[in-house]
Amino acid sequence: MPRPPERASLGHAGPVAASAWSALADLVLPRTCAGCGLPGPALCRRCAALLARPHLASPRRFPEGFPPTVAAGAYDGAVRPAVLAFKERGRAELAHPLGTALALAVAAVVTAVPGPPPRQVLLVPVPSSAAALRERGRDHVRELAGQAVRELCAAGLPAAQARLLRRCGRVRDSAGLSAGQRRANLAGTFALAPGAGAVEGPLVLVDDVVTSGATLTEAGSVLAALARPGGPPVLAAVVAATPRQRRQVSADRLSGPLPRD
Ligand SMILES: [Zn+2]
Repeated sequence: MPRPPERASLGHAGPVAASAWSALADLVLPRTCAGCGLPGPALCRRCAALLARPHLASPRRFPEGFPPTVAAGAYDGAVRPAVLAFKERGRAELAHPLGTALALAVAAVVTAVPGPPPRQVLLVPVPSSAAALRERGRDHVRELAGQAVRELCAAGLPAAQARLLRRCGRVRDSAGLSAGQRRANLAGTFALAPGAGAVEGPLVLVDDVVTSGATLTEAGSVLAALARPGGPPVLAAVVAATPRQRRQVSADRLSGPLPRD
């Protein structure tokens, strides 16, 4: 008796099917580097190398309370169109190279804090606004964080994504908050996610780009309520920073303390 043909399921496509799909996409879609536009992978080696330059981000106005932040590269040149292609033009395949760059920035900022290596690093994606999520149809920062977590774990640094922040527009009671927390509270942009409690490991805010530093400062001041007293400060890592007073993270800097909030 003839057997019915096996049903193909894209939902359970294995690595062979995935690579076949990728090969098919190569035939149908022209592949170009999102940075320089040359034919080839989503981000060519030359452009990816621009995101392997971890350095401390120094926003122009350096807002009070700006968390110690490492960027994987500078937000200029070929990096700019690559980030925009991922964020605004739906080139989701860039999550891999950009998330890998983010992992490098996370590792750099975490290892810059003196003390034994953490048992687990928690990556907290900066939440996008509801309007931006609707417009893009996806949460690109969570995609970056997910890829960065995979890279960090593969490199032997246990990491997880923790959605501890939510976006909001309401101002809550400011009693008992520090000056920085009050400022963030009044700005009313972020709040702790329901159920968010104190955590052990270092908290690393993650975002795609830092420019003025205001977003990371506000988000960091809200998140600080979860940090262990006497523990490491809330840290931040981004794919790219608007260049200004760039400083490479050198070996001697890694052994010394980072600037505190
Ligand atoms: Zn390129």
